[in-house]
Amino acid sequence: MKEGEKEKGKQKDEIIKCSFCGKTIEDGIRVIKGKDANICEDCVKVCNYIIETEKKAVTPTKVIKRLLKPVEIKKILDQYIIGQELPKKILSVAVYNHYKRLIANEIGFSGDVEIEKSNIMMIGPTGSGKTYMARILAKILDVPFAIADATTLTEAGYVGDDVENVLLRLILNAGDGNITQEAIEKAQMGIVYIDEIDKISRKSESPSITRDVSGEGVQQALLKLMEGTIASVPPQGGRKHPNQQVIYVDTTNILFIVGGAFVGLEDIIRKRLGKNKIGFVGEGKSKEFENENILKYVTPEDLIKYGMIPEFIGRTPVIAVFDELTEEEMKRILTEPKNALVKQYQKLFDYEGVDLIFEDEAIDEIVKLAKERKTGARGLRAILEDVMLNIMFELPSMEGVKSCIITRDTVRKTGHPIFTYTSETEKKAKKRTA
Ligand code: ADP
Repeated sequence: MKEGEKEKGKQKDEIIKCSFCGKTIEDGIRVIKGKDANICEDCVKVCNYIIETEKKAVTPTKVIKRLLKPVEIKKILDQYIIGQELPKKILSVAVYNHYKRLIANEIGFSGDVEIEKSNIMMIGPTGSGKTYMARILAKILDVPFAIADATTLTEAGYVGDDVENVLLRLILNAGDGNITQEAIEKAQMGIVYIDEIDKISRKSESPSITRDVSGEGVQQALLKLMEGTIASVPPQGGRKHPNQQVIYVDTTNILFIVGGAFVGLEDIIRKRLGKNKIGFVGEGKSKEFENENILKYVTPEDLIKYGMIPEFIGRTPVIAVFDELTEEEMKRILTEPKNALVKQYQKLFDYEGVDLIFEDEAIDEIVKLAKERKTGARGLRAILEDVMLNIMFELPSMEGVKSCIITRDTVRKTGHPIFTYTSETEKKAKKRTA
């Protein structure tokens, strides 16, 4: 073979071809040589894209993989929430079924039976843990969570927030403040909590003739989202504008939890129960309900009487009734849960090297004050903050404090906390006085 031909043959051998797309370096691309196959840089990019999008895609299957069984969900709720045993059970099951439904629909497992979405209604006094429970559920399931106050919402086009803004909040929470495709997908499987739902009851039991934009109108608008729709969400929040670019969000798989105190609902229930009892036990029976949480007997009809529209009630078939917290439960809330307020303050003091001790009577007094405020466990933090403010102000500048004891008088503000000091500080103090 001539020298020239040999050289040509060698070059031909060296032209590496991508085993995936067939491109060679002659196409102006880098090709990486492997043992039995080669790959060009374009194909590397494609592979990377496939891997990344697959990793990011949020599918019900992925959510269900993390999905805990109802018993496990309740066990975690127990670590944070005191009392409310029945609501904890109801919510554990409802949430489990919700996410199971997503997967069943995704893989077509449900067959002819379409498992309907069950949103949840929470009824109970202020500060009994409704919002807290919804928040913790979202945390347990690791899904995005957003809260809205029904009283700030109005029907589209009227003064106030459009209901779709709740979804914007959900997307922003899912994307750490950024609106990305991934955040939208995550949000589509999130939990929305709408507080003060009782405040958007319609003004009269029969459909209104004049427009009721903050009551019935909002219920109608929320209903659409709860049923499952492709909602258009204005990215800037606020109200929609015809020329505004919008984000489309599918709400089919979003779990809506609505909650409210429903003041006055008890009377409606009592009246109904009383009526049924007439001729039987009459007065005597209604007395029997006195120490009971009468809300336990709530029916969809009672809620309609209260002013919720029937379609709305139809979309919240799961009803969890929260009890008013007892003094004993409030005490436990202060001290027992994983992130109990007392534990949080003790940790703060610990950083200063000081033991923080609450006498039992001090805890009793805090609970007593909170009860007087009638805001349930909500009052506990405010009262404790107030008690601790001066102490937290002074303590970092005090020398040699070993422990700080909060007494009933400290809470009542009729006395100071009791401080004990390290032995060195005590010695110094003794020397000074000697
Ligand atoms: P609401 O029922 O009005 O939604 P929240 O859930 O907002 O009440 O309760 C206010 C705060 O009180 C919560 O953030 C939580 O710290 C505390 N809390 C209320 N109920 C409970 C409970 N049952 N167990 C533990 N903490 C509770």
